Amino acid sequence: MKRLLTGAFAICLAIGTHARAEDKGLDIFFIDVDGGAATLIVTPERESILIDSGWPGRNDRDPKRIVHVLKDVAKLDKLDHLVTTHWHMDHYGGVEGLSKLVEIGKFWDRGLPGVDGPEADFPDGPKANDPLGVAYLKASAGKRKALGANDSLPLNGSLKAIVLASGTEVRKIAKRQKHNPLNAESKTIAEDPSDNARSLAIKFSLGQFDFLDCGDLTWNIERDLVVPYDRIGQIDLYQVTHHGMDISNNPVLVKTIHPTVAIMNNGPRKGGAANTVKLLKSIPSIEAAYQLHKNAATGPEDNTDPSLIANKPKEGGEFIHASVSPDGKTFSVQIGEKGEKKTFTSK
Ligand SMILES: [Zn+2]
Repeated sequence: MKRLLTGAFAICLAIGTHARAEDKGLDIFFIDVDGGAATLIVTPERESILIDSGWPGRNDRDPKRIVHVLKDVAKLDKLDHLVTTHWHMDHYGGVEGLSKLVEIGKFWDRGLPGVDGPEADFPDGPKANDPLGVAYLKASAGKRKALGANDSLPLNGSLKAIVLASGTEVRKIAKRQKHNPLNAESKTIAEDPSDNARSLAIKFSLGQFDFLDCGDLTWNIERDLVVPYDRIGQIDLYQVTHHGMDISNNPVLVKTIHPTVAIMNNGPRKGGAANTVKLLKSIPSIEAAYQLHKNAATGPEDNTDPSLIANKPKEGGEFIHASVSPDGKTFSVQIGEKGEKKTFTSK
């Protein structure tokens, strides 16, 4: 009997140890695609979601960078979900190359012209004869679905993903909510007729941790997300919208979401606007503002702290990695696999 009990106890201990070793949190990788977008999310259950796939061409440089992080760093052999925020080539140009390098489970986007809505709603394509559009249709055949505001990505585990904006529509919320106290500060600018304004915006939540990716959403729709009612809530990690351009990052949105950490996917000569850097520096809740590159066109005063810039050499390729604890209570950010880890508390 004693021997049996000891054996059972040993098995319990082994199971306990195994469970702890497998206890993973949420990983978010901001992959450098030189002023495009490619954000890889890996859930605690190791389901993978890529938001945007970088640029086409350059011998599939961006798909190769994405696959390197997926396979060599995250140790996964398949991409479960590919989300395309909007139809600009720095966001969906990498799909053809990516689909040759890795199996992609499901495709999500804001809709396709003639399939999910009239062509007039798709000012920037993809056109029927556009090679990038043809490649996207081929890769996603039978595996794609359009996402509207209020939809959720169907994920298997504890991570929630809700669509806040799609095709200029914003998430509906219950009435009788209090007006945003920053209403008076909000301004609109001339309407943006491009696909940027039609970007998907998605909030990912794990426990009390919240991450916001708005693609290239521009000023007026950003305003609609927080004025007169806040449809987002407080955010811990903010992907600086539209590579840090200042026709995006409406101050009323950035102030309302009250981010703790900001990560900008700019290139050396794209995004990273001085006005956006100034805005981020002026927001007291922001404890660290990372950039993928230094903006080569502006001085040090219009860039972040050099220690928070991932790529000093122009050729780039280094990612920024945020890892969130399994309970969502804390998160750490580091540059690449060896950078200094800074830890933050979720709100
Ligand atoms: Zn873009």
